[in-house]
Amino acid sequence: MIVDLVLSNAKAYLKKEIVNCNLAIDNGKIFKISNEAKMPKAQTKIDLKNLLVLPGLIDAHVHLRGQEKAYKEDFYSGTAAAVAGGITTVLDMPNNDPVTMSAETLRNRMENAEKKILVNVGFYSEFPRNVEEIAKIVEEGAVAFKLFMTEQVGGLNIDDDHALVEAFKTVNQLKVSVAVHAEDKTMLKKAEDEFKRANRNGIEAFLKAHSENVEVKAIKRLLNIAEQTDVHIHFCHVSTENGLKAIIGGKKSEMPITCEATPHHLFLSVDDLEKTGTLALTMPPVREKHHTETLWNGVKNGWIDILASDHAPHTLQEKKAKVVWDVKVGIPNLETTLPLMLTEVKRGRLSIADVVRLMAEKPAEIFKLKGRGCLKEGNNADLTVVDLNRKYKIEASKFHSKAKYSPFDRWKVEGKPVKTFVNGQLIMDNGEIVAKAGSGKIIRRE
Ligand SMILES: [Zn+2]
Repeated sequence: MIVDLVLSNAKAYLKKEIVNCNLAIDNGKIFKISNEAKMPKAQTKIDLKNLLVLPGLIDAHVHLRGQEKAYKEDFYSGTAAAVAGGITTVLDMPNNDPVTMSAETLRNRMENAEKKILVNVGFYSEFPRNVEEIAKIVEEGAVAFKLFMTEQVGGLNIDDDHALVEAFKTVNQLKVSVAVHAEDKTMLKKAEDEFKRANRNGIEAFLKAHSENVEVKAIKRLLNIAEQTDVHIHFCHVSTENGLKAIIGGKKSEMPITCEATPHHLFLSVDDLEKTGTLALTMPPVREKHHTETLWNGVKNGWIDILASDHAPHTLQEKKAKVVWDVKVGIPNLETTLPLMLTEVKRGRLSIADVVRLMAEKPAEIFKLKGRGCLKEGNNADLTVVDLNRKYKIEASKFHSKAKYSPFDRWKVEGKPVKTFVNGQLIMDNGEIVAKAGSGKIIRRE
């Protein structure tokens, strides 16, 4: 037989070790992983010249925008940023315009995305107003639900614990997960209103309003609800010492919970905000250094399950609003996450096994993305090829994302994604997009 593609001279990360091998790819799947002699004939052959091949990386927290927010980012520019950053699958957040919160809005979003995407995209839904709609959203293919605790985004009343319990029970029966943005709305709004009345409109007031306690309160409330429902809760972007401590407490009592860290909470602290100003403003915000140290320990010892970018692009104008409360929160991160992590591998803080666990294996397992997350025969041929020795500076002005700024701009990094294959097709080659829009697949939960 003649397969579609053979990749020769690869160093591939297989079953916890790096192995010299060739990979045969056919019909979008990994057909064979073996030595040169055992490779079938191929239509196309690519010599990888001993570059490292990782399982295609999965980013479980991405705001692709599009639709009415396409001026910030669209499905093409967002997935181009992903593929350039070595990411082959993203999970898209629902706080869109219109908000993804019904079978119909989800279907429309999928249809809108389908012909534009360059990587695989799965979709979160916010909760609908009626619990009866939850099953329809799952049937339509939502990968998971997302719940924002900071403000009312979807149809579920976030002030009502009984409503949350009821919704979580329904979701649990359907074996779907709930990802949460854990910051307590009541506590946050109270502080914010006080600062606004006192005419305190700077970054310092924003940081005080988004205190550690705001995060811890929401986490504890959700843990309490999780206990009553047994639903799997995934805590997005944990940012504080006591927040992580509460989650570890839940994990130790064997609750079905997982959590994630973002590059900004790991690599930046409040000191960096003095330089970047509101450009690096995120929710939750970056913290004092002792929090970042705790998060790094959590990443290293496995209490933090995954690493996600929380890619959240806005226009530069939106980022530079004069009053801090008007600044749009979030930063583009799809093109910086992997290089930052690979640099830590060079420095010896992380291993390649850690990077694969945090950015491929665990996200696939947690969000039940079948046939992805590791390199083995029969799996989808999503591959991230990296050059561990490439030293360069991050250049935000060259991002594929529409948001061409970053708090990591000009940072020196070592390790670069140089080729990205999605479902067996070469999509990114040395920073250039070499495939057509629509090459990625919509992932529907089976
Ligand atoms: Zn987010």
